[in-house]
Amino acid sequence: MRIDLHAHSDRSDGTDPPGELVAKAARAGLDVVALTDHDTSIGWDEAAGVAGELGMGFVPGMEISCSDSGAAVHLLAYLPDPAYQPLAEELRTILDGRVRRLPATLDRLRELGIDITAEDVRRGSRPAEAMGRPHIADALIAKGVVANREEAFDRYLSIGRPAYVERYAADLTEMVRRVTESGGVPVLAHPWARHSRRILTRETIERLVDAGLAGLEVDHPDHDPGARAGLRDVVTELDLVMTGSGDYHGEGKQQFPLGGEVTAEAEFARLTARAASNAAASGRRTPVPMLP
Ligand code: AMP
Ligand code: FE
Ligand code: FE
Ligand code: ZN
Repeated sequence: MRIDLHAHSDRSDGTDPPGELVAKAARAGLDVVALTDHDTSIGWDEAAGVAGELGMGFVPGMEISCSDSGAAVHLLAYLPDPAYQPLAEELRTILDGRVRRLPATLDRLRELGIDITAEDVRRGSRPAEAMGRPHIADALIAKGVVANREEAFDRYLSIGRPAYVERYAADLTEMVRRVTESGGVPVLAHPWARHSRRILTRETIERLVDAGLAGLEVDHPDHDPGARAGLRDVVTELDLVMTGSGDYHGEGKQQFPLGGEVTAEAEFARLTARAASNAAASGRRTPVPMLP
């Protein structure tokens, strides 16, 4: 089985509608795909509908914007109950923070002589529920200021660049707890990619495991061979689930294809078993994974 547990649709910063993403996953030879849009579950129903028609395996998830010690950390949450109030409230706060950041970013760009309106960004970001820097990048592309998202981040939007503006993110440890209490399975996304590597030491990961962390995304395009080897050791020592995923964003990140990295079948089985036990312990009505 070929299993990719991390992909974005146009409900966040990917470019394919959720159903189209699932159809493409099937055409790419995947047996199971997870939809993990940033901070929203809004694409789940459409994706699950197409997965049902195609007999495709489907795992509803999301990638939640968190922070630890001031650094941005992404937390994957598989099969949580999105109606669990403490989780839903925190996601709403993150989504509101995304909207509130927009005018401040546009002010910075205006100071640099680049005139983009909020309406330009909104028009280009529809139907995203989680609007963000990639959509501002798309507006910069449409204006002819940059050639692609990569250039927009390198010149303007990345941390340390002139149009970077911080936004609200959830406390990482607290969010690991909330996802677990919602009946879902928390897994750290690309823990040793550039920004979070310094923060997510083995000791920190151990502390997160005490809060309910279940796994680490080890095989990810942003991980070099050294990071993967180091994370494999942590997974073994702490007996964690090890995932691999392509982090597909459609046209938004052309070097990240669907199924570019995959999760072993045995690890996927451990993840769904953990979901079943977290769901039972939570007493919540959680979504069930669709198997191919
Ligand atoms: P935001 O959540 O709005 O702060 O934006 C972060 C998102 O931007 C991440 O989820 C990435 O998908 C995307 N991103 C970050 N760096 C880059 C880059 N250099 N090129 C393209 N997309 C990027
Ligand atoms: Fe993204
Ligand atoms: Fe991420
Ligand atoms: Zn992602």
